[in-house]
Amino acid sequence: ILSVTNLQKKFGDLTVLKDISFQISDGEIVSIIGSSGSGKSTLLRCMNQLETVTSGTIEINGKTLVKTENGTPVYSGKDVQKEILMETGFVFQNFNLFPHYSVLRNVMEAPVCVAGVAKEEARKKAMELLKKLGLEEKADAYPCELSGGQSQRVSIARALALEPKILFFDEPTSALDPELTGEVLKVIKSLADLHMTMVIVTHEMAFAKEISDRVIFMDKGVIVEDDTPDVVFQSANERTREFLGKYH
Ligand code: ATP
Ligand code: MG
Repeated sequence: ILSVTNLQKKFGDLTVLKDISFQISDGEIVSIIGSSGSGKSTLLRCMNQLETVTSGTIEINGKTLVKTENGTPVYSGKDVQKEILMETGFVFQNFNLFPHYSVLRNVMEAPVCVAGVAKEEARKKAMELLKKLGLEEKADAYPCELSGGQSQRVSIARALALEPKILFFDEPTSALDPELTGEVLKVIKSLADLHMTMVIVTHEMAFAKEISDRVIFMDKGVIVEDDTPDVVFQSANERTREFLGKYH
């Protein structure tokens, strides 16, 4: 469902992603771990079209977002880019909710304004999602009236509203207190039980180990490990051990 081949990303002279290749199958849950600055967010931002790649190929859900010809990246047309965006959901560290919209409107916004779903239908669907995430009573509240955990659950509801085929999370709990972290991780686990395809950048090692089919360890813009949690967390690789050692 996701295929990244020889992806490179430079910011000026700085090469942040160096020849990144990996694939994710339908229903798989993959965690990406690695030190600060290793390029994890940049990688997700390339999927999300918030950054353009320097070279390489990205295919999402059978559609080519970008490929490279003679060293030059060639992006698919705007219509394909939009289709891809509509089939992918993103949840960020800082929630990124629209502050001047109610919770309900935050969840309805993309279906109504991007996908052209009728308002009543979008409202019904949004209420169902909020109910599922335990946020029914907060439908009319504004983001500033929510706890961090509630905000993050709203942003998960918003990401789910377009029924994405794949969900990306960038450190969904790192802005939260430990007790609120638990409630968000529980929601992600319930999505895992529904076989949602997910790519999760996280510093929660125990969670990554428990939930993931595969763990990718990135260091300085390269993938050092891409294997089952058992293998990665027992790795003999020196860089991997040094990184994981910080979590004990
Ligand atoms: P963290 O765990 O701290 O979130 P990360 O693995 O997500 O780190 P990135 O945010 O992808 O790391 O950053 C990778 C490198 O790219 C860093 O050296 C960063 O300074 C650089 N970088 C990111 N965005 C830009 C930008 N817009 N312009 C220049 N350099 C950038
Ligand atoms: Mg990051």
